[in-house]
Amino acid sequence: MNNSTIAIYPGSFDPITLGHLDIITRGSNMFDSVIVAVLSNPSKQPLFTVEKRIEQIKQCTINLSNVEVDSFAGLTVEYAKMRGAKILLRGLRVLSDFEKELQMAHTNKTLSEDIETIFLATAKEYSFLSSSVVKEIAQFGGEISHLVPTDIVDDIYSYYNK
Ligand code: ADP
Repeated sequence: MNNSTIAIYPGSFDPITLGHLDIITRGSNMFDSVIVAVLSNPSKQPLFTVEKRIEQIKQCTINLSNVEVDSFAGLTVEYAKMRGAKILLRGLRVLSDFEKELQMAHTNKTLSEDIETIFLATAKEYSFLSSSVVKEIAQFGGEISHLVPTDIVDDIYSYYNK
């Protein structure tokens, strides 16, 4: 029987930031494998397509051999079950995250008793950082190289210059 511990790190990652990458890296040291799962959400108008986000995350995590990147639609717990994962990994930055994340974790518990949500506290240097912050700065051509992985800086600027 396979007893490896698989964690799913679900999110929009539109785009991936250094805060996300920090959670992925730390998760990859804690679990046998981490699946970064890009949520395909038709009700949101994203900057990058799901395919592009997958490609970007793969580029940034190429050195993490136990990290896989995938996408899913629908309920996270159903995706986790399908992938044989019992852990959902999420990051916490500020109090407002806590409220939203706790509600989501409790909701997921009502849907699947044996899936646990595990929270990692953000690295203190990234506690202010979100994909929205990156987009707000990039649209005006501001500096983002300290906020996102080097590999995707040009992708983001090209989006706004096209
Ligand atoms: P979602 O739309 O599901 O919130 P995000 O891509 O915004 O997707 O975030 C995915 C997860 O990563 C969430 O748990 C979020 O709290 C966490 N996260 C986002 N930014 C950071 C950061 N700077 N530090 C730590 N965790 C973060």
